[in-house]
Amino acid sequence: MAAPDPPHDRNDPAWDHIDPDHPEPWKGCIRRGLCCMSNPGWFAPGEAEKAAEVMGMEMADFVNAFLVVDHAKTTIGVIEGFVPAKMGPGGDHVETPGTKTGPSYKFTQGRCVFYTGTGCLIYEARPFECTRYACTNMPEDNPSRLELAMLWLQAHDATVEASQDSAD
Ligand code: SF4
Repeated sequence: MAAPDPPHDRNDPAWDHIDPDHPEPWKGCIRRGLCCMSNPGWFAPGEAEKAAEVMGMEMADFVNAFLVVDHAKTTIGVIEGFVPAKMGPGGDHVETPGTKTGPSYKFTQGRCVFYTGTGCLIYEARPFECTRYACTNMPEDNPSRLELAMLWLQAHDATVEASQDSAD
């Protein structure tokens, strides 16, 4: 059976409990925490390392404690990237940190592991999508996964080139 479409259409009543009308939509993001309570944003390359520093942790420990590797289909193929883990209503992880997400992960809403209820534990190093996304924007004005995919692809190419240079 095909997975259902995610309820990203804010006219969809499925969003009513989590996405009440924005009081002043012209202000864009006013830090209501709605994204933080439903779908944490993806990191761009290099950002998770900065977040690990903010938390005073080694990268591997940080990943195993707080991040998952999510995937997305784009027009240039399937990409994978680090994303803060989502917590379910009972406080359990939706997927175990340090692992790759399953196919239904993107359709499951969950509170970001860094959301305190009033703010973000890693605010100064929050992910690319968290810095750029505003729920009042038209979809075309928010960053697309393709944009992010290109960043990960460029980072991968740069890494490959650097390793080839050092092997020469
Ligand atoms: S990383 Fe911070 S800004 Fe991004 S979803 Fe989590 S709590 Fe919100």
